[in-house]
Amino acid sequence: MSTERDEIAVVGAGLAGCLLACFLARRGYPVALYERRPDPRTGTAERGRSINLALSERGLDALRRIGLAEQVMVDALPMRGRMVHPVVGEPGFQPYSVSGDRAINSISRGALNNALLEAAAKLPGVRIAFDHRLVGLDPATGEMTFDTPQGPVTAGARVVLGTDGAGSAVRGQLLEHGLLTESVDFLDYGYKELTIPPLGGDFALDPGALHIWPRGTSMMIALPNPDRSFTCTLFWPTHGTASFASLGSKAAIERHFAQHYPDLLPLAPNLVDDYQHNPVGVLGTVRCDPWQVDGRVGLLGDAAHAIVPFYGQGANCAFEDVVELDRCLSECADDWSAALPLFQHRRQENAEAIARMALANFVEMRDKVASPVFQTRKRVEHA
Ligand code: FAD
Repeated sequence: MSTERDEIAVVGAGLAGCLLACFLARRGYPVALYERRPDPRTGTAERGRSINLALSERGLDALRRIGLAEQVMVDALPMRGRMVHPVVGEPGFQPYSVSGDRAINSISRGALNNALLEAAAKLPGVRIAFDHRLVGLDPATGEMTFDTPQGPVTAGARVVLGTDGAGSAVRGQLLEHGLLTESVDFLDYGYKELTIPPLGGDFALDPGALHIWPRGTSMMIALPNPDRSFTCTLFWPTHGTASFASLGSKAAIERHFAQHYPDLLPLAPNLVDDYQHNPVGVLGTVRCDPWQVDGRVGLLGDAAHAIVPFYGQGANCAFEDVVELDRCLSECADDWSAALPLFQHRRQENAEAIARMALANFVEMRDKVASPVFQTRKRVEHA
């Protein structure tokens, strides 16, 4: 019978945390998975918070290793290219591959998280504690303090792994103890989600593409959902004369979309309500060093390296982290004090590369995909 002191604590039951719990349990570890929120399988999604995401081969590889890819892919919608919507004229399709058959997959974030949570819960040795928000950590002993609806709770663990996202409390605790340095670079752009419901029972736009409305200083994308709706994400500066804050009335919102996104307006009957009530999310790049302390505390996923979403690779990258940590544990005969530094050594450079590429892709998506030069080049590439 294992005790709390033998357990590996995984803090944050998001995409990375649930996958990590599955990999660790398969290695035979007792795992305690702590999550600040209630069980998502019993609740509803938060309004306007990244409803779907693009899952690519990097993420699928991780899911295949735990036998979950097939189940997750049942509801996936493959997107084989970009559909670029100009202000005037017909949208143009730009395939992602020369053969036209390679795709990224639009997946419900909630369904993916629930499938991973379910898979973790089924494995022997995994216990899940919801409504546990980590608020304290002693990196020397692994003792954690959680806020719960019943009051503060303390727990111990042999190793503590922070998969608690971009605003990681585990990272915060290491910072407070002077054990790491971090930089958080916020973009002056935020994002807001809008919905295109089904039209006459069918998709209102082509579901085989990722739709983009590049507008220079702003940009919108739309990904299809299994219920035949689309979730649009509008990226725009958070402040200034042309920004989310600048549209104060129903008329101003309608005028703005009629001018810049004229083909969207008739397809989005709840546009004004969505715009007025959905929150503006922040976007930023998190860098920190080191990602681990003494083989006892480690960071994975967004907690170690959150990136802006323009390459659609944050979750894919978090999944790759888990596969790599599992590989490092195998190579180091499960010696955590060797495996965690090796993991950082192998992943940090890659995380930095995708962080930079994601920022560069923002410029391409909001601007260059609409330029005549880019479209000509694409036509030649894909001829
Ligand atoms: P998260 O998913 O943030 O999970 C963290 C978990 O920790 C949550 O469940 C949270 O409740 C919990 N938690 C937080 N604090 C505590 C605490 N103190 N105690 C206990 N639990 C805690 N990536 C892609 O690959 N493809 C995409 O298309 C894509 N699109 C995106 C679009 C947008 C608009 C945004 C913002 C991001 C997008 N991403 C995409 C990035 C992706 O969402 C993240 O990289 C991914 O969610 C990271 O997973 P994670 O498990 O590390 O963190």
